[in-house]
Amino acid sequence: MQRHKHDLVVVGAGSGGFAAARTARDLGADVALVDHGPLGGLCILRGCMPSKTLIASSDAAHDMREAGELGVHAGSIRIDFPHIMSRKRELIKGFADYRIEGIEKFPLYEGRARFLSDRELQVGGDVVLQAERFIIATGSVVAPAGAVHGLQDVGYLDSDGALELETLPKSLIVLGGGYIGCELGQFFARMGVKVSIVLRSQHLLSGEDHDVGEALTQYYIDEGIDVYTRTQIMRVSKRAEQKIVHVVKEGVEADLEAEELLYCLGRVPNVAGLGCENIGVECHPITGIPTDETMLSTNPRIYAIGDVAAKHMLVHVAIYEGEVAARNAVTGAGERVVYDLVKTHTVFSDPQVAVVGETERGLQARGVAYVKGVYDFAEHGKAMCLNKTKGFVKMMASAEDGKILGAAILGPHGSDLIHEVIVAMHYGATVKQFMSIPHLHPTLAEIWTYPAEECAEKLALAGPGEIHPEVAM
Ligand SMILES: Cc1cc2nc3c(=O)[nH]c(=O)nc-3n(C[C@H](O)[C@H](O)[C@H](O)COP(=O)(O)OP(=O)(O)OC[C@H]3O[C@@H](n4cnc5c(N)ncnc54)[C@H](O)[C@@H]3O)c2cc1C
Repeated sequence: MQRHKHDLVVVGAGSGGFAAARTARDLGADVALVDHGPLGGLCILRGCMPSKTLIASSDAAHDMREAGELGVHAGSIRIDFPHIMSRKRELIKGFADYRIEGIEKFPLYEGRARFLSDRELQVGGDVVLQAERFIIATGSVVAPAGAVHGLQDVGYLDSDGALELETLPKSLIVLGGGYIGCELGQFFARMGVKVSIVLRSQHLLSGEDHDVGEALTQYYIDEGIDVYTRTQIMRVSKRAEQKIVHVVKEGVEADLEAEELLYCLGRVPNVAGLGCENIGVECHPITGIPTDETMLSTNPRIYAIGDVAAKHMLVHVAIYEGEVAARNAVTGAGERVVYDLVKTHTVFSDPQVAVVGETERGLQARGVAYVKGVYDFAEHGKAMCLNKTKGFVKMMASAEDGKILGAAILGPHGSDLIHEVIVAMHYGATVKQFMSIPHLHPTLAEIWTYPAEECAEKLALAGPGEIHPEVAM
């Protein structure tokens, strides 16, 4: 058995683990990375980057279909799926190679990690690493499909499989209406596949405000995607070449059938086999490794970050947590994570969804007095010029002092446009201050000035200390 000693060992070299290792090294620590591979992490290999590469092709197909409205006729559209997939493979290889170059600048131990004690980690069969501190960054895996009766027997795709498909199915039922189901479901629909999405909640993206989720659901339906909301999946079976999903909607049983199923019912933290039980690290197969605000687990030598800590399963959150944990592990600074702005998120549907700060649901649940401004892209000049008029923006501001509390966008380039509000909120801007920021004309970005103005008007009407009648509580 080989033994090696380091100041800090990071288990998992994905987005979070790599960021943690870099931060620790920059602070002068001797830090090693452990990963069983394939190297590159979820984001690059099987998550954000491959999915967004594919979505660029389906968006292009959609824009070509709509181009007639702008007086440009593209003729009949031909989807070259092998080309789309090989373009994705090539790009992902480039991203992964670059990341691996970075990873290999660290002492790297390739193999499956398992804690022997809170000072010793076994890697594969013949290496033991000793360290004073560890950061667990082992990510997440697709949630077990066992809960859907019959699914294992019938066979199905998950997001990993969907991103590697060689040929398109004729029809597809997506199980789940979260962000991965929305993104991949719309991708396949725009590739010409007949897509249905089945979900238990009342609209796609059940975690979002209802106005956002309801509007997106309607756009999907308008586009020809069958969205079965408030629908319970009972079991799955097979009839000839078709896969059947037996569902119940509002007490009525129905069978939906398609050539293929795409299982998108979530991801769970990847804790299996880590040996948490050997080191006093509390961990749960669904909720992952709980941490305090310094990202410390229940063992004071061991931090957990990213998807395995399951706060918000997003790349920028994994990176942020990794950096905070690394600073704490190396310097003992006790820096705390603050998610107020970091929980900003986006969905690469079309129209895109992006949310910063508080949602209306959150404000109402906490009884915070706020004013709201809303503006539709259908009323916005530049959006009309571009023929991208689906969706709206909304902004919420404190009824006390006018500070922007949150904003949401459902609209074209939402994932980019949200950044203006992120920056404004980062600097604690009020809606009045936001209105004093110059905006170029005609741009999509200037749409934010309208909800800001509406909020400011409502606040002015309310007068000091008063709450305007439209202020929701
Ligand atoms: C289809 C899809 C699309 C997504 N799109 C987005 C998006 O648009 N935006 C966004 O922010 N997020 C997106 N995500 C989520 C995002 O990819 C993850 O939140 C993020 O990559 C998690 O990073 P991580 O560092 O926690 O884990 P990972 O990147 O998964 O890294 C974990 C690493 O640990 C290694 N490992 C695991 N167990 C062990 C072990 N026992 N021993 C040794 N090594 C081990 C693995 O090999 C892996 O390299 C998407 C996810 C999916 C599935």
